[in-house]
Amino acid sequence: MKIHEISGQTGSSRILVGRVMDTITQYLPNGSPLIILTDDNVRHYYEDRFPPAQTIITMGTGEGHKTLDTVQMIYERLVSIEADRSIFLLGIGGGIVCDITGFVASTYMRGVRFGYMPTTLLAQVDAGVGGKTGFNFMGYKNMIGTFNQPELVVCDPEFFPTLSPVDLSCGFAEIIKHAAIADHSYFEILENFDIKKQMDDPGVVEDIVHRSVMIKADIVNRDERERGERRKLNFGHTLGHALEKTIGMPHGEAVGIGMMAAANLSLEKNLLQPGDVLRLKNLLESFHLPTAVDLDVSKVMDALARDKKKEGKMIHFVLLNGIGKAVIESIYLDVLEKVLFKKQSA
Ligand SMILES: [Zn+2]
Repeated sequence: MKIHEISGQTGSSRILVGRVMDTITQYLPNGSPLIILTDDNVRHYYEDRFPPAQTIITMGTGEGHKTLDTVQMIYERLVSIEADRSIFLLGIGGGIVCDITGFVASTYMRGVRFGYMPTTLLAQVDAGVGGKTGFNFMGYKNMIGTFNQPELVVCDPEFFPTLSPVDLSCGFAEIIKHAAIADHSYFEILENFDIKKQMDDPGVVEDIVHRSVMIKADIVNRDERERGERRKLNFGHTLGHALEKTIGMPHGEAVGIGMMAAANLSLEKNLLQPGDVLRLKNLLESFHLPTAVDLDVSKVMDALARDKKKEGKMIHFVLLNGIGKAVIESIYLDVLEKVLFKKQSA
């Protein structure tokens, strides 16, 4: 097992990577009544391995449940069991469960202690680390939320065998992103990783999760509130979020397409070589991620125009200045539109 500590302005976080599921109780705070927050699906598969808890609160599965209604349901349950500030809230589930758990913990009685046991590869390398919490509102993703570090994050690869192939690939999209923006040697390791043969090797998978957690934690440590450095983690996400919204593509797949578009834009600006764009494309494909999609440019532009990262007619866009090095540039929306149109007609 590997332990990684993050200390930020909003608190510090201890991240455990390894086979911890069955011994998690020893890492939970003594004397705090444990309340588990999970979803139907995770409860169905793993309830018998949950640590002993005072109450288990279950929400529905999927993005459609990342809402104020779900938050309200949880507040009501907490009030009805007379939960006070001494509780420890543990979210066991994917990114949605983690984000909602963090938000409820940030706001219930002005804040209670909390942690996550992310059950998907995507959540372990992404939502579990970094302290962003929240839910979707009026059609906008993560419109309401807080920055707040979970005290404890447990990343156990034992959950992966029940993930669907799409969920696995989506996790790898985020992992490829970490390598592309921050670590060329990690990118090479991934180029040599065989998802068919090596997923069953817990040591190898643990190393990958740990490496991604370290990259994300390192960036977050330097810029917890996303004023500069942290924006690099949005590589592939600006277009990705627009695709999720317009054609309902799964997050990781949409980010894969977004990374390809950003790579092509980087090529256009002479920051990236054609060979590097091809390496990214091959790597995404080796993890069964799509690299092209039919998109309705006007709908996508419409969604981009409402992006949180937009400032006037420009949008902050993360480009690659070689593999392993990200740069942030302000791009005019109409320039972006041209690149997207060009891709369409090519
Ligand atoms: Zn993401």
